[in-house]
Amino acid sequence: MTDQASSRILVTSALPYANGPVHLGHLAGAYLPADIFVRYQRLRGRDVVFICGSDEHGVSILLSAREEGVSPRDIIDRYHQRNKEAFEKIGMSFDNYSRTSLPIHHETALEFFHDLKEKGILKQRKEKQLFDEKAGMFLPDRFVMGTCYHLRSDGTKCEYPTAYGDQCEQCGNSIDPLKLIDPVSVLTGTKPTVRETTHWYFPLGDYQERLEQYVEEHADVWRENVLQQCRSWLKEGLEDRPITRDLDWGVPVPTDDGSKKVLYVWFEAVLGYISSTKEWAAKQETPDLWKEYWCKPDTRYIAFIGKDNIVFHCLMFPAMLMAKGGYVLPENVPANEFLNLEGRKFSKSRHWTIDLEEYLEEFPPDLLRYALALNFPETKDTDFYWKDFQARSNNELADILGNFINRTVHFAHKHFQGKVPPPGELNERDREFLATFQATADSVAQSYESYRFREGVGRTMNLARAANKYFNDSEPWVTIKSDPVRCATTINISLQAIHSLMIFFEPVLPFTSRDIRSLLGFPEEYTFHWEIGYSPALVEGHQLGEQKILFEKISDEVIAKYVDALGRLPAEEQEKTWPNAPLKSMITIDDFGKIDLRIAEIFEAERIKKSKKLLRLKVRIGEHERQIVAGIAEHYEPESLIGKRVVVVANLKSAKLFGVESEGMVLAATNEDGELTLLVPERDIETGSIVK
Ligand SMILES: [Zn+2]
Repeated sequence: MTDQASSRILVTSALPYANGPVHLGHLAGAYLPADIFVRYQRLRGRDVVFICGSDEHGVSILLSAREEGVSPRDIIDRYHQRNKEAFEKIGMSFDNYSRTSLPIHHETALEFFHDLKEKGILKQRKEKQLFDEKAGMFLPDRFVMGTCYHLRSDGTKCEYPTAYGDQCEQCGNSIDPLKLIDPVSVLTGTKPTVRETTHWYFPLGDYQERLEQYVEEHADVWRENVLQQCRSWLKEGLEDRPITRDLDWGVPVPTDDGSKKVLYVWFEAVLGYISSTKEWAAKQETPDLWKEYWCKPDTRYIAFIGKDNIVFHCLMFPAMLMAKGGYVLPENVPANEFLNLEGRKFSKSRHWTIDLEEYLEEFPPDLLRYALALNFPETKDTDFYWKDFQARSNNELADILGNFINRTVHFAHKHFQGKVPPPGELNERDREFLATFQATADSVAQSYESYRFREGVGRTMNLARAANKYFNDSEPWVTIKSDPVRCATTINISLQAIHSLMIFFEPVLPFTSRDIRSLLGFPEEYTFHWEIGYSPALVEGHQLGEQKILFEKISDEVIAKYVDALGRLPAEEQEKTWPNAPLKSMITIDDFGKIDLRIAEIFEAERIKKSKKLLRLKVRIGEHERQIVAGIAEHYEPESLIGKRVVVVANLKSAKLFGVESEGMVLAATNEDGELTLLVPERDIETGSIVK
């Protein structure tokens, strides 16, 4: 690892868009891993500053504001505040959480722009763009819609009628808005005209060689997914990128002709890390302190992000910093892959999501921190299942860690007046167990230093497992009668283990660590270093605090409630969607042809345990048998379905619902009152028959 010697570390987490609530997928990407890393480094006594903030200039914010009929300012104020609070409640220990709408950010971004312009690095280019005459503005990507002009690989035309000006959702190709067939402004519905405009470009291509060198210098420490993406971009060859656009939402750039231009978000948002650090320094009345972290060459800069941000943080941002000069470049960019939810991608519009706020209304923060950490998508996409979450909480946190601490403290209160008993003489088992403290801490440290957080947290729990085993094997409930001195030794060492667990678990379970501190009778200002956990630290006679249960078990009913809610619209939104809901956008006969609808016969049906909504069906489609999970349990008794012929989507990618594999979908109609009926053929027809 480079620069291990320096103890000054700058850590940033990707700035979330202030355009919606932070969900569990976000948390598992750029935030929680960073927090575990930072908390660990602080325990090692290193000088860390941890920086984040809201990205408030995205075009999507403008579109949301239009949809809701409020100002963009309303949107960013709402979500900045809500996300900031949710982050605090889940224990994110940012030193500063800023926002890119602040003057300090606008100044920082413009200073970069002017500096690069004065150095002659930026280039100006004339280009044509779509313009809405009625709205009096240029139309950036998602503000224009039209028919896709791309050819598919089989030579047929895509002709997707509602392609936005950035990308076609049907064929996946990126769109040049000027080439769209019959373009329409999303703002006014009018046909846009073409006008000439001038933009500033950053010559990314000029940095190709230096970036190649930069990436390869880190090849032995960066993650494989990060390296692969960088190398593939570099192989394609880097091109100049526009850094301004015609909009009036963002960081305004002065123009000669009075036209409204702002900095492109890709260029300006990453500078939010610097402005947030400046704000942090100013808050503590040492306004130049930010330079210690950004400009001293021996600073270790670690940028935590999700995989969708790799190219910005590994190529574009470093190129900007090279152009500016005098800044440190990221030493590592530990990008996580994506976390999915119960077999599907998180989706706000399909209500397939768990917002952090929603989670925190019901559960303590540490349960989620623990369950997510053991499931971080560090090398590939992973899934959050409510059942796994429950199992991690009940079987590991409550039954292993909680149980060990509870038994030990209870025993000390009952038999040793709540005081740490004398250590006495150690036997082989005692010594072996004590030796695992430092061995565990060292292996956990190694994992954290290599950004393998799943492994580090798993290893920490192994110490709690070893502690449980030590307690059991030592049988203090027997020795209390037969050999009280031996019993005192067992309890002394078990209490020492609790003290060490309090330290080693702090990065992932900060709230629990605090609870353990008071349980052990320490005041709030009691602080500790990582190394203190290596060996016994509690003195004989130390008075313990009051006993408290650390983890309550989560019932099946609570978990079922959350699983059932997935994919359901909140009541207030249901009204808007049924039966008078606006029709979805038009599709072609080809689109429809992709859906394979078949007649199927149900031959097995049963309720899925603990789910009110779901039935597990087995159906026959011609000669094939399939298992399908259907949300119809509130409308049909399982027995009444046997022998029924229904219509199923036969080529739907399989997914797990409530942990049960579903290979298809049964068609049903629903009305406003939530009544539901299956679609059945009007006359008897063979299973496997095609529906079209
Ligand atoms: Zn297309």
